[in-house]
Amino acid sequence: MIPPMATGSTLDLIGDTPLVRLKGPSDEAGCEIYGKCEYANPGSSVKDRAALYMIRDAEARGELKPGGTVIEGTAGNTGIGIALVANALGYKTVIVMPDNQSKEKMDTLRALGAKLVLVPPTKYADPAHFQHVSRRMAEETEGAVWAGQFDNIANRRAHIEGTSKEIWEQLEGRVDGFTCAAGTGGTISGVGMGLKEKDQNVCIALTDPHGAALYNYYAHGELKSEGSSVAEGIGQGRITANLEGAPIDTQFRISDEEGLVWVRRLLAEEGLCLGLSSGINVAGAIELGKQLAKERGSDTRVVTILCDTGFRYLSTLYNPEWLRKKELPVFPWLDEEGTSA
Ligand code: PMP
Repeated sequence: MIPPMATGSTLDLIGDTPLVRLKGPSDEAGCEIYGKCEYANPGSSVKDRAALYMIRDAEARGELKPGGTVIEGTAGNTGIGIALVANALGYKTVIVMPDNQSKEKMDTLRALGAKLVLVPPTKYADPAHFQHVSRRMAEETEGAVWAGQFDNIANRRAHIEGTSKEIWEQLEGRVDGFTCAAGTGGTISGVGMGLKEKDQNVCIALTDPHGAALYNYYAHGELKSEGSSVAEGIGQGRITANLEGAPIDTQFRISDEEGLVWVRRLLAEEGLCLGLSSGINVAGAIELGKQLAKERGSDTRVVTILCDTGFRYLSTLYNPEWLRKKELPVFPWLDEEGTSA
């Protein structure tokens, strides 16, 4: 294979991620399941794309000026993307994050030079919610812009213009289905819109974790959540601007246990170390693959997103004590001390 040509800017390293056939999930679904390797972005997550688009959009609108500050409320990955892009373009970064997110994300943000403000996790309706705190900080800070990823549709544009086009080209224009979970909804909505533009027959499915309200919204027209999930970065309770008009054809609800089966199997059998949202996405892709393969046959192709690296969760998903505390199954190769067999 010819390697890509040399690039003139580190920002060009965002996007153009590999697409890989996942063997175990394909065998399980009876069709072809592909993972888009978003953990291969410079900030190790899908959110680098949205970070770049939102910052470029703020510049284009004339709101972000040289030496300015980008402020954002985030579960962590968007903050990491923003900090990298802001460093490359000479801006400062302030990140407001709930204090129940992984320690690795907090340490990474500090290491990148972002100012980190931790707030207690609360409901969106609470003025102390991280999104509202970050918005107010931006309003009160001279030369600052608020990225506002949930309702800033520059986020989903990154996936309409980038992710969906790449998937289409990587599969040479033959895609049957796409699914992923929603945090802001930028990925599902943007990839969904981009693929539908190419071919109306691509089936777009939302994969929702427990504790989120979107499954009930798309299935029954009612925003209602049941249960809970420890997955970081996904699980939405409202229709964000990014989700408005998302072309969702069907929906699945996936538990943390089901997602963890695929986090474990992809690591042990295919050498991929991923976060829980990726495991939940893969479980959803298998459901969609099984459904579509019934009508379209075993060469059906379903794509999902491998959102971020598992190295971001060594203190949680890959820590036996943490797993036990959350009453989740411990991977067999992690013993009491957490060393490998
Ligand atoms: N997985 C992880 C780990 C994330 O951090 C996010 C972003 N919050 C998502 C999935 C969902 O992406 P989106 O915001 O585009 O819906």
